[in-house]
Amino acid sequence: MDEIDRSQETTEIYEQAAMQTLARRRAAYFQPVPGGRKWRECEDCGKPIPLARMKANPKATRCIKCQTNFESGGN
Ligand SMILES: [Zn+2]
Repeated sequence: MDEIDRSQETTEIYEQAAMQTLARRRAAYFQPVPGGRKWRECEDCGKPIPLARMKANPKATRCIKCQTNFESGGN
């Protein structure tokens, strides 16, 4: 039953690696933008997300227009 243990271990290692990659990507994404800018760019149109929107929803990754589009399922 050694083989089962080993495959479980391998799965765990893969899962850990995947989680670490995700965490690293996320950390990079939420780091302040170089140059001292305090806003983030909309992931759809690339325009800056207004600070007011960031305050209302710190997890926002889209501007209001693109978020509305996204939520309504359109493009
Ligand atoms: Zn946008």
